[in-house]
Amino acid sequence: MAKIGILTCLYSNNVCARVGCLKAFNSRTGHFTEYGPDDELAALMTCNGCKSWREPAPSEDQELLEKVERLSKEEIDVVHVGVCSVHHGKECGRMTELCGLIEEKGIRVVRGTH
Ligand code: SF4
Repeated sequence: MAKIGILTCLYSNNVCARVGCLKAFNSRTGHFTEYGPDDELAALMTCNGCKSWREPAPSEDQELLEKVERLSKEEIDVVHVGVCSVHHGKECGRMTELCGLIEEKGIRVVRGTH
């Protein structure tokens, strides 16, 4: 059984109810086609926001590091990253850094949900 997490941009909270991501996971469509009926969605998280209102970089943000640690402790196998992390055709640098921190824990990161 795979344990799956979804990671999204904090700003997307303003406009997003995660319906697209959850619908894709539940129907095993989009970027979730590889999973079987026993694989479970076990984590939902956002980044901790942009530098303009939260100074520490992801690698120095103790609360964000706590969230990454929790993914590891819960034995999350793979984290899917929402398209909301892409701005003007490029992945947000803070999100890229956060994904690297997740990968350092041995967790696979997949760009894409629905
Ligand atoms: S740091 Fe990037 S991913 Fe996080 S809220 Fe800001 S734009 Fe979104």
